[in-house]
Amino acid sequence: QHHSGLQGKSQVFTADMLHYTSDRLALMAALRQAITDGQLVLYVQPQIDMQSRQVLAGEVFVRWRHPTKGLLAPAEFLQLAEEMGVIYPLTQWVLNEAVSMMATLKQAKLDCKIAVNISSKDLLHDELIDSLEQLFDKYQVKPQQMMLELQESALLANPPKAMSMLQRLHRLGVELALDDFGTGFSSLAYLRQLPVQHVKVDCSFINELHKSDMHSAITGAIIDMARNLSLGVIAEGVEEVEVEQKLLRMGCSRGQGFLYSRPFELGGFAVWLKQWQQNETKSP
Ligand code: C2E
Ligand code: MG
Ligand code: MG
Ligand code: MG
Repeated sequence: QHHSGLQGKSQVFTADMLHYTSDRLALMAALRQAITDGQLVLYVQPQIDMQSRQVLAGEVFVRWRHPTKGLLAPAEFLQLAEEMGVIYPLTQWVLNEAVSMMATLKQAKLDCKIAVNISSKDLLHDELIDSLEQLFDKYQVKPQQMMLELQESALLANPPKAMSMLQRLHRLGVELALDDFGTGFSSLAYLRQLPVQHVKVDCSFINELHKSDMHSAITGAIIDMARNLSLGVIAEGVEEVEVEQKLLRMGCSRGQGFLYSRPFELGGFAVWLKQWQQNETKSP
């Protein structure tokens, strides 16, 4: 490893970085620019109570409207952003848009939370707590109306630090969910210590729930475990009615997926919500 003291900041040059092609480096420079130039956009997907048909939250997903490559999905730039240290400014942009939408929903008297995905790297920034507090204050919304979604891996890099950040977020009042649950290696003992209120069962188990005994066994085990730990369960990737019905029979009532809506531009969320409420609350 070679340490360089450029710009007064010590950076660690790792062997991994040798694999960065000039393409990827150019993409990173462009992403830094994209954040300030307004090329990022948020999409949103509703999370539904499949029993009552109420919309509980809208989860926001970042997209990059690249000037020449078109609309890029997170898979095409997020990991690189994490590795290159651009994720925190991106997260701050996302949070600002998300909290601004919370204010819009509040003004429209729509009771619906906003869920935001945050990266493991974000938990290394102490300022995250203050900047969230400032946003809630600026937009006059309650932290309880926000849910933060973290992946299990968020806890691996620096477990004590991640734990203390989660506790601070919890004290602030935001809801916390563990995303992509079942794909990592969380121990149940550890999960019990985390101040999270929900686990999200990964798409890969839910998609095939009605066709695969193994996937329904895993999902069933997660639902039972969550019940024993008093955690909520959210199923992601609900694409078919058979899956919805099976989840309800298994005791999971909260779902999200193409069956209800594909992700769409965040600007249209309030209108979508009003329409949904009109259609779904009509007496049958
Ligand atoms: P995630 O948080 O687990 O989000 C679920 C992904 O599944 C989203 O992909 C969503 O569009 C997709 N999806 C939703 N419903 C269905 C369905 O019924 N079937 C299938 N097959 N897929 C469905 P997307 O938007 O490409 O995001 C991928 C991942 O990127 C997210 O996974 C999340 O981990 C990350 N991500 C997205 N936006 C952000 C962000 O603003 N910040 C951070 N740090 N990560 C983000
Ligand atoms: Mg998520
Ligand atoms: Mg997920
Ligand atoms: Mg995911």
